[in-house]
Amino acid sequence: MDHHARTQNEKLEFKTTTCYMCACRCGIRVHLRDGEVRYIDGNPEHPLNQGVICAKGASGIMKQYSPARLTQPLMRKAGAERGEARFEPVSWEVAFDVLEKRLSHLRATDPKQFALFTGRDQMQALTGLFAKQFGTPNYAAHGGFCSANMAAGMIYTMGGSFWEFGGPDLDHAKLFFMIGTAEDHHSNPLKIALSKFKRAGGRFIAINPVRTGYAAIADEWVPIRPGTDGALFMALIRELIEHDAYDRAFVERFSNAAELVDLREDRDTFGLFVRDPCAPEVNALYPQNHLWWDTRTDRAVLHHTEGAQPALEGRYVLEDDTPVAPSFALLREQVTHCTPQWAERITGIAAETIVRIAREMATVARERRIVLPVQWTDSWGKTHDTVEGAPVAFHAMRGLAAHSNGFQTIRAMAVLMSLLGTIDRPGGFRHKSPYPRAAPPSAKPPNDPASIKPNTPLASGPLGWPASPADLFVHEDGSPARIDKAFSWEYPLAVHGLMHSVITNAWRGDPYPIDTLLIFMANMAWNSSMNPGQVRNMLVDKREDGQYKIPFLVVCDAFQSEMTAFADLILPDTTYLERHDVMSMLDRPISEFDGPVDSVRVPVVPPTGECKPFQEVLIELASRLKLPAFTTPEGTRKFRDYPDFIVNFQTAPDSGTGFLIGWRGKDGDKAVVGEPNPKQWEQYASNNCVYHHRLPESLQYMRNCNGPYMQWAVDNGMRKFGLPIVIQLYSEAMQTFRLAAQGKTSGRQPPDHLRERIVRHFDPLPFWYPPLEMDVTDLNRYPLAAITQRPMAMYHSWDSQNAWLRQIHGENHLFVNPATAAAAGIDDDGWIYVESPWGKVRCRARYSEAVEPGTVWTWNAIGKAAGAWNLGPGAGESQRGFLLNHVITDELPSDMQAGERISNSDPITGQAGWYDVRVRIYRAEADAATTLPQFEPMQPLPGSTNVLQRMQAYFAGKGEFAARLRRKVATGVSPSEAVQREGDRS
Ligand code: SF4
Repeated sequence: MDHHARTQNEKLEFKTTTCYMCACRCGIRVHLRDGEVRYIDGNPEHPLNQGVICAKGASGIMKQYSPARLTQPLMRKAGAERGEARFEPVSWEVAFDVLEKRLSHLRATDPKQFALFTGRDQMQALTGLFAKQFGTPNYAAHGGFCSANMAAGMIYTMGGSFWEFGGPDLDHAKLFFMIGTAEDHHSNPLKIALSKFKRAGGRFIAINPVRTGYAAIADEWVPIRPGTDGALFMALIRELIEHDAYDRAFVERFSNAAELVDLREDRDTFGLFVRDPCAPEVNALYPQNHLWWDTRTDRAVLHHTEGAQPALEGRYVLEDDTPVAPSFALLREQVTHCTPQWAERITGIAAETIVRIAREMATVARERRIVLPVQWTDSWGKTHDTVEGAPVAFHAMRGLAAHSNGFQTIRAMAVLMSLLGTIDRPGGFRHKSPYPRAAPPSAKPPNDPASIKPNTPLASGPLGWPASPADLFVHEDGSPARIDKAFSWEYPLAVHGLMHSVITNAWRGDPYPIDTLLIFMANMAWNSSMNPGQVRNMLVDKREDGQYKIPFLVVCDAFQSEMTAFADLILPDTTYLERHDVMSMLDRPISEFDGPVDSVRVPVVPPTGECKPFQEVLIELASRLKLPAFTTPEGTRKFRDYPDFIVNFQTAPDSGTGFLIGWRGKDGDKAVVGEPNPKQWEQYASNNCVYHHRLPESLQYMRNCNGPYMQWAVDNGMRKFGLPIVIQLYSEAMQTFRLAAQGKTSGRQPPDHLRERIVRHFDPLPFWYPPLEMDVTDLNRYPLAAITQRPMAMYHSWDSQNAWLRQIHGENHLFVNPATAAAAGIDDDGWIYVESPWGKVRCRARYSEAVEPGTVWTWNAIGKAAGAWNLGPGAGESQRGFLLNHVITDELPSDMQAGERISNSDPITGQAGWYDVRVRIYRAEADAATTLPQFEPMQPLPGSTNVLQRMQAYFAGKGEFAARLRRKVATGVSPSEAVQREGDRS
């Protein structure tokens, strides 16, 4: 080959887009030679990562040219059984025809027979809209098995949460607590912020059973037993209250601490806030007529009465003889027993350490206060000359969330943060637009099963935020209306659904069977199920008539995963480098503390083979099915394609609110709200694919109760109501469920077997209880907690096929504290069994001092089934890697009724209790050489890009060579043969 001549003609360029090697949404520059990706680096112009790229981001090239790419629609071969992975290629036309016929029949007869569940995608505004328009409530994304507790626990308390919704202000913080946080979450932005924070002298305390990742640079590691964080928070709350070390002024004015609670136990209003009968209710969803006890006049007054001094302590009697107490007084009583010694017994953290941490929090909060000269006006009209902050910041994630006590644990953390006065203030927690939202937000799920009608969209989106039993989605007898039982009495606040229950429930026909399950980007036959072995059996299980129990399974993914083997129809998705995407204010944007930010992806290379973006599939299907939002009044197709949809969709006719906030208006000169702009994509593309709208400083802080900010948020489509979002130290919404379960209210009642469960868990104040799995496990036999961590170099299972990242993690061990290992007679690198009541795996142990002795752990999703992801059958991932999920159960035996089982999930939100399993470990056979369980190796699928893609990646840009390979393959020559022939030639 004439390299020199070709080099002179080669075309070098770079294009900007947004990374999707994890969900952080960094800006990237994709460098191309002759149209092929050569390398990827961070975009220095991008506000989120400022040019920083991580190992995952830089390895995008190996995702693009991965041997595991799916490249054409595939249909299970006639006569082939599910799981055998025997497919034949079909055209998109055939695939669409099959789907159109099947789905239009279901929509016209019983729309709930179609279920759409998606994994860690970033297009839930579109997928949710599709489900709503189709008329099926059976829709959710991955949140239920990820961190729904984090979203729900904090949003029900303060209207915002971590991750996309808000975060720690490390620019101003002096003391930072990171608790239960995975390494891959909020990756680059957090790393940048942490390095600045540490250089500025900030103190970083990591609380986690394991010291890895971010915790490696912590000033102090506080090991804690999994599932006990709530007890630590309760003890810290007690310390702050007992020592009068909380921010009284903040709590009094901006939380409901001073609001009076009805103490008449025999009434249907017991435990609710008393309302001033003379004050008109502004909004039934968010009553604003609660009362304070004014200590100056010694009588009840409307809250926020000018000049009043509200009581936080004591008990009082209203003029009509109603006994009442400020909710703060009830909180004090709630934590009375939560002494540091009590917490030590639960958490394993010494009582002195708990006391010291509480003191340090209080001291930093009080003595190192930040005062910014920013004038702002609160929702009750009082203008403040400064914004003040207590510089104590927190960050937490799945380590707290993925327990069956996660919701109340996170409520406790949110209450602790509020007592320190750190909510949307400098140095503490800061909201990101469109948050804060109401606590809980006003969007509600459907609440009447009769609203599911043929050929009719749902009246509201399938997901929402119940505020009382009236918002549950149940039949008259209290039974669930959704396939995953979300919003039923089993999981009333299942705000993200229960994806982990869908296959089990559909297989069992409980609450009913379904016909078609469409799974997008979720590996339910492996790492996304708590019980993958059983799920694989369910997917191939048949009814008596020979039909599969889940009759039609459609899988859309970019890669050949364990899940694709079980599909009836496979739809090949594109990579993130081949498509348009939006990180939208309607979904999960990338906002900064100072204002809304959204971003897009634009294709930098054409789709591989016949790959089609899933968004285009949905737009096409929605148009064919004539779903109203996608159809003109004349009955024709409304949107040409996905980019056209993004530009022209508005939340309501002429609302001016759409997916993107940048360059709106006919001429692109409006921000946030404005008419559709036909050139919007081009303007994003030529501006680093990102739009940042900075709010005036006076609107950047205290947004829960910042009057002018609220008005801005309403005017700009971020909020429906401009009412203040008072922090819910005491949750009246929770109490309404408890009252129903106690039979005190006359409305909807839970089935009798669930009453006790509701009464126990729906405490309006946070509390700690042991994870449910502890009650059904013999802790003497299974004494160790087993958890997973996600490595910084991979995101979920996405990079199992990535040639570069596999070199960092190609197999995994179980990390064990040396003392624990020695007690079990286990050698470093020795083969062992990890056994729970639900199953066992064989793997190798690795000694580690960086794990507390009662916990063992491993990396999540490194282990693979043989042959999956187009890895060779002898690949380390399947032979020396293992998946801990095989020892986890998705259902627990329930002692409520003989034979009943209940999801291994939080009884409030349905969040999967991944980290609750208890295990024992022991030496394996002396001749052990592979991990167990093993599965029959998966076969490569038709259209595999294996050899060709590998060679293309290597020779990318050597245009003639790659083109000749492609031409040869197009004529039917096998990729390996083509490489061989071309190799000989050159
Ligand atoms: S942190 Fe995530 S989004 Fe950012 S470069 Fe790394 S993989 Fe990409």
